[in-house]
Amino acid sequence: MSSSVASSSLPLWRRAFTAVVQWVDSDYCPEGAEKLRAEPDRVDWVRVMPFVVLHLGCLGVIWVGASAFAVWAAVALYFVRMFAVTGIYHRYFSHKTYSTSRFGQFLLALWGGTTVQRGALWWAYHHRHHHLHSDDPEDAHSPHVHGFLWSHIGWITSRRNFPTDYSKIKDLAKFPELVWLNRFDLVVPIVFAASLFGLGELLAAFAPALGTNGWQLLVWGFFVSTTALFHGTACINSMAHLMGRRRFQTGDDSRNSFILALITLGEGWHNNHHRYQSSTRNGFYWWEIDPTYYGLKVLAWLGFIRGLKPVPQSVLNEGAHADHHASVAAAKKAALVHPEYSSLRKVVPTAAAFAVATATASAANLPKKADGPAIHRDVSAQLTPADDTPPNPPVI
Ligand SMILES: [Zn+2]
Ligand SMILES: [Zn+2]
Repeated sequence: MSSSVASSSLPLWRRAFTAVVQWVDSDYCPEGAEKLRAEPDRVDWVRVMPFVVLHLGCLGVIWVGASAFAVWAAVALYFVRMFAVTGIYHRYFSHKTYSTSRFGQFLLALWGGTTVQRGALWWAYHHRHHHLHSDDPEDAHSPHVHGFLWSHIGWITSRRNFPTDYSKIKDLAKFPELVWLNRFDLVVPIVFAASLFGLGELLAAFAPALGTNGWQLLVWGFFVSTTALFHGTACINSMAHLMGRRRFQTGDDSRNSFILALITLGEGWHNNHHRYQSSTRNGFYWWEIDPTYYGLKVLAWLGFIRGLKPVPQSVLNEGAHADHHASVAAAKKAALVHPEYSSLRKVVPTAAAFAVATATASAANLPKKADGPAIHRDVSAQLTPADDTPPNPPVI
């Protein structure tokens, strides 16, 4: 707590100045990253201004209008960069589920940088921390600990979550080019945004039939697409621990969701992933759609990446076993509520009553089958001699 007091004692202007410098140099931290991380959660409004501007930029559609080209560009850039979030930031930098060359790794980091989700090392550090502390108080974005809104968007605005703890990601921090991209994490997004603007201007000049221009492509391709990309990704932090089915009884509340898998190109199989993180695929079975994995397979065929890691057969068997038990439990549950099963519950004791009645009737030389109604009366009297409850009607 003393570190919290020390940091909080910084004058407001100094904290604001620090935050502005951090827009450019995200490793600038005069208080010391350790002290900052020890602080309680608190939104740093100056530091998050670029993030606010990203959202406000979407309002630009009011002035720039829309064209089919710009809208489709936004959609395409959403998925191309969602692939970067899932296939690169998550499945490569965070979990190392495949390999590539050092130059290939640098290209992956550049691609990941266009997602505007800060540097690969910051992303990987926080994600590994999530797996270590899933849904316990240390988890920075657990909806069960901090609530939905904080898990979705609040946690990235907190001062204590801005620094990257390089000591926890030494396997990545040993590459200075990655550290540089992580430290100056606005460089790639600015170049990306400027490129979109330039492309739009070129199209306006050389392909006017497309009806687009630099500002329009900037607003749709960068601001709208990136904002949607952020919220699509953030759904995994928030929704994937709330919505869906739990195949594996992991020590957290991760879940599998087909809808989230569609939005995030396969990351919706989050319970699978929490069960076994080292696999390149999150959809463990063929029916669990995982476009990120399909894309990574293509990159492997092209020779750009290699060594994709499979799901162990023991884990697949465990999942199949869990699915089997889940389906049996679901059938039993349905039997308790389904009207046909309710009738069955009446049929079974009635059939038993008939069996007993038949045996008793033959022993007592009671009327034959043709005198059925008499049998029913006798049987009911024998089965429930002291019970006023009327017998179950025969259901045949
Ligand atoms: Zn999770
Ligand atoms: Zn993960």
